[in-house]
Amino acid sequence: MSQKKSLFSDAQSRMADIFDRLDVHCDVRRQLEQPKCIHQAAIPVRMDDGSLRVFPGWRVQYDQSRGPGKGGVRFHPNVDADEVTALSFWMVLKCALVNLPFGGAKGGVQVDPKLLSRMELERLSRGYIRAFYDVIGPDRDIPAPDVNTNEIVMGWMVDEYSEITREKVPAIITGKPPEMGGSAGRTAATGRGALLVLETWARRKGKRPEDTTIAVQGFGNAGYYFALLAHEAGYRIVALSDSKGAIHTNKALDPEPIWRHKNETRELKGMVYCESSVCTESDVGQISQEALLALDVDVLVLAALENAITTDNVGQVRAGAILEIANGPVSREADKTLAKRGIAVLPDVLVNAGGVTVSYFEWVQGRTGEYWDKATVDEKLESRMLPTACACFDRADRDATTVREAAYAIAVERIAKAIESRGDSCYFKQ
Ligand code: GLU
Repeated sequence: MSQKKSLFSDAQSRMADIFDRLDVHCDVRRQLEQPKCIHQAAIPVRMDDGSLRVFPGWRVQYDQSRGPGKGGVRFHPNVDADEVTALSFWMVLKCALVNLPFGGAKGGVQVDPKLLSRMELERLSRGYIRAFYDVIGPDRDIPAPDVNTNEIVMGWMVDEYSEITREKVPAIITGKPPEMGGSAGRTAATGRGALLVLETWARRKGKRPEDTTIAVQGFGNAGYYFALLAHEAGYRIVALSDSKGAIHTNKALDPEPIWRHKNETRELKGMVYCESSVCTESDVGQISQEALLALDVDVLVLAALENAITTDNVGQVRAGAILEIANGPVSREADKTLAKRGIAVLPDVLVNAGGVTVSYFEWVQGRTGEYWDKATVDEKLESRMLPTACACFDRADRDATTVREAAYAIAVERIAKAIESRGDSCYFKQ
């Protein structure tokens, strides 16, 4: 485990707070205290200049009581076993919350993929599958995209799996290109799901889209689709940031041309990553990324990485509510401060669950061979997200807790049923 503050310990302490209040068997708590399996591999990649580099990679299968493992693979220089474990744990809760027949897993490679050529990236993606081939499978553990991995990377991964098995196995990976068995609507699914949660919340609070200002931290795939769909629904996107900078206006930003411009002006054209930034927009004001987090807006959307809001900067937050599209963007301590200040946090396990929900649809389509059109997928997504969001808000009202506590409670009760149905210690007592 690395020197940085443990994300997994933070996640576990948060969970302990919830368990203390829930009436579930202690066996359930014990089973969810640690991951079932942490697989680690050294992934060798032949670089374009002929040299060899070896990248550390992980696949963590946290719990599979409700079904095969499910979760993305991220490529990032800061990835380590601790981070992947925390992310796999959140996948367990997320899949249970949306009632998908999956457990939770996650993968990662410690690499800065933006420094690799396209060919090197392909070799790394294929290497990941070769390294973890024995522990994944359509009924075992199904990878998907996450930070810095996209449709193209998933395409290489599913292809590598087929090369090894000599069979087409579309249900082994989700988030694939549609031409390789991917689902319609998967790319926009996380952003679309997040908007559905925001709309459900806004309706209950009597907030109209045109009166609701939004700042978005993180303008990658999920942040972009959220911003685009929110803009189309009439919300006012007033600020956007990415890893290079932030922009702000007093009116409203149209995300589509900004995204197009960002992609068109990317410096390294051969790569699959956008190297340009929202700050190349010349007709809007630029602010610092920290200033975006402190804007006086109705909703602050966190769509970048974990720990965007911690005890260091929580005091500066002036937003009315926070929408967590990234996984773990608010630390446990910061969360407590926000709750005391009455700032609602709509939690990651609910808000970003649209991605894994459409992954589930893709898995079903891959297994049956029957493919649905985008309208069908969007409709099915809505019919999962809306009742889930309402259940979380109702439970939070009923128990007078935060929405995160309510979401965790619903998820843990479902996981508990799966664990208990195999027999708990009461059952085995004479
Ligand atoms: N990486 C996404 C998440 O954190 C999607 C996972 C999936 O589709 O399996 O939810």
